[in-house]
Amino acid sequence: MEKLISGIHQFRKQYWSDNRDLFQKLARQGQSPSELFITCCDSRVDPTVFTQRQPGDLFVYRNIGNFVPPYRDGRLDGTGVGAAIEYAVDHLRVRDIIVCGHSDCGAMNALYRDRKAFAESPHITEWLKYGDGTLAVVADNYPGKSKEERLAITSEENVLVQMENLRTYPVVQRAAREGRLFVHAWFFEIGEGNVYGYSPEKGQYELLHLGEE
Ligand SMILES: [Zn+2]
Repeated sequence: MEKLISGIHQFRKQYWSDNRDLFQKLARQGQSPSELFITCCDSRVDPTVFTQRQPGDLFVYRNIGNFVPPYRDGRLDGTGVGAAIEYAVDHLRVRDIIVCGHSDCGAMNALYRDRKAFAESPHITEWLKYGDGTLAVVADNYPGKSKEERLAITSEENVLVQMENLRTYPVVQRAAREGRLFVHAWFFEIGEGNVYGYSPEKGQYELLHLGEE
């Protein structure tokens, strides 16, 4: 806790002072982010850091495993995600939605564990059901992989499954039809700091920072 308080002092002294105009403009004019960024709660995955954006730039929604429950599947779990999607697309008028997974994701690992391990954690048990579609895709398409390979593949495939779920939202379908919304599947590799984007044309993830020194 002390680290947070000393961090606030440091923030006030340096970052806020250096960006006072930006903060005051944001306070006056409100937010106008251009992207909705959906990613995992993992403490190592901070989209504002790895995209080097500023406060006011990204509308961020995080949950364990970066799941996007399908539109109104009857469970209340997805309400928070759905509200963020509807608000971002129709009220903030974001131009892009990025769903971003990451390496070494605890949620992807948990999908392969016996659910009895979470007997005392009913919300985790319930939430992990949103990974069932991903498990099925991996089991069908990547038999005979090692545990490590399977985990990496699961994280990458999970983003694509969640992208499909995202497309079940009427607000997303309508905005995409109007040509004012684009959706993207990304993947962040923690150790290397690499960020990949999925290319639907090529059917694979590609480095987004190709060609840099
Ligand atoms: Zn994660």
